[in-house]
Amino acid sequence: MAVNSIGNLLEELRELLGEERATVNDTVRDLHGRDESYHAVRPSDLVVFPESTEEVAAVVKAAARHRIPIVPFGLGSSLEGHVIPYDGGITIDFSLMNQILEIHEDDFLVRVQPGVTRTQLNKELKKYGLFFSVDPGADATLGGMAATNASGTTTVKYGVMRDQVRDLEVVLADGTVIHTGSLAAKSASGLHLNGLFVGSEGTLGCFTELTLRVYGIPEQIAAARASFPTIDAAVTAVVSIQQAGIPISRVELVDEPSMQQVNRHAGTGYPVKPTLFLEFSGNEAGLRQDIEFTEEIVSDLGCDNLEFEMDQEGMNRLWEARHHLAYSYIHSHPGRKMMVTDVCVPISELAGAVHHARETVDNMGLIGGITGHVGDGNFHIILMIDMNNPDEVRKSDELNEAIVSYALDRNGTCTGEHGVGVGKLKYQAREHGAALGVMETIKRALDPENLMNPGKLFNPPKEEN
Ligand SMILES: Cc1cc2nc3c(=O)[nH]c(=O)nc-3n(C[C@H](O)[C@H](O)[C@H](O)COP(=O)(O)OP(=O)(O)OC[C@H]3O[C@@H](n4cnc5c(N)ncnc54)[C@H](O)[C@@H]3O)c2cc1C
Repeated sequence: MAVNSIGNLLEELRELLGEERATVNDTVRDLHGRDESYHAVRPSDLVVFPESTEEVAAVVKAAARHRIPIVPFGLGSSLEGHVIPYDGGITIDFSLMNQILEIHEDDFLVRVQPGVTRTQLNKELKKYGLFFSVDPGADATLGGMAATNASGTTTVKYGVMRDQVRDLEVVLADGTVIHTGSLAAKSASGLHLNGLFVGSEGTLGCFTELTLRVYGIPEQIAAARASFPTIDAAVTAVVSIQQAGIPISRVELVDEPSMQQVNRHAGTGYPVKPTLFLEFSGNEAGLRQDIEFTEEIVSDLGCDNLEFEMDQEGMNRLWEARHHLAYSYIHSHPGRKMMVTDVCVPISELAGAVHHARETVDNMGLIGGITGHVGDGNFHIILMIDMNNPDEVRKSDELNEAIVSYALDRNGTCTGEHGVGVGKLKYQAREHGAALGVMETIKRALDPENLMNPGKLFNPPKEEN
């Protein structure tokens, strides 16, 4: 990056935003040069904090004039190097664009700025008896979640981020502002731009507003924890629950090492066995039926401990224990970095895939816990790696490759929810074949100078040191 161009641009952006909102402060640059994973850090050259769509468009136009890359930044909780500016340039931090603009109760829609976080939104929606469904483990921003097509524990019932987006306001690479959808529940008009921009990882434009679906808080909710003699039995239970048509709203797998981690972090005394965390929701009669049917299925598969939580406090405790799992790994392994595999397979392949994953981890002598949103066929191995131990780093890479290969051989995907960033670039050609060329053509058409988050999703980064 030419120092002159950044210097000239800084002057221009300071005129636009003032000194505080266009900064080259070292701490701020460092904070915007990392994510929550093992990927190498690289400080940003310049960080801006816009407050409006007009300011974002002006920043993008200025960057285009100086041919300087742009990296949109939500909370930096992504796991595949998405926000690390390996090609240098400006980071656009959306934290000051954090207003909930409108709640359309009757349409079950909200309009928000991209820096609103999911818990901020849910706190506000609760007053209206509504909630937003997508819940990644981190309290991410809705802009970042749309850009990675995030999902979470409730996806088995409500779908992924792409299913929630009705409309996006997007600033394109040349500064043009577009809307990708409307407020209508369906449309047969034009190409599906919502689908295209969701999951684009900041490579096609900056989202400056989002219109999202929200849902009524269910009349009754019950949560449960079921432990099994083997991981195979737990996964078979998930498949059987799905095949029985039980409208489960959450079903999460946590294996033995991860249950140990849960107990240590949450101070719980749950059995250290392969465990399913489950949630049922609906009206009272339906819920009772679903629970009875599930009890039969899990006991046929050897479940020896099925505990229900019916009150809010108990349910919160149970789901917090599950949600804090990844952070509990991070906190108990100081000095190590987290690598999380993220494949998703057809549900019929899930038992085999989890079995293969456990065997591969054990054979390689690595320490890793399996957890996942198994109702969707998506599971993770959480590895805490000593980056100073080349043998461990190599083995972790080999493990990731083996897990991805297994999934792709079965028509699955290399990433169910975390996205491509730089970490999953090497699998794109194998997964998408000729379709990758179509994606690259779209990228070139919308961003001919390759300034929007270059090196992510499409091309290898120029440097990762
Ligand atoms: C402990 C832990 C658990 C996690 N669990 C899950 C999980 O269960 N499910 C899941 O899906 N993910 C999970 N993640 C990953 C992460 O939380 C998600 O990828 C999340 O969607 C990222 O949001 P963010 O606001 O942090 O975005 P960032 O990390 O800041 O950015 C992510 C991407 O979005 C782009 N971006 C950000 N804002 C905008 C914008 N306004 N316009 C255009 N592009 C933008 C960035 O350029 C980048 O490419 C987890 C992460 C951690 C640390």
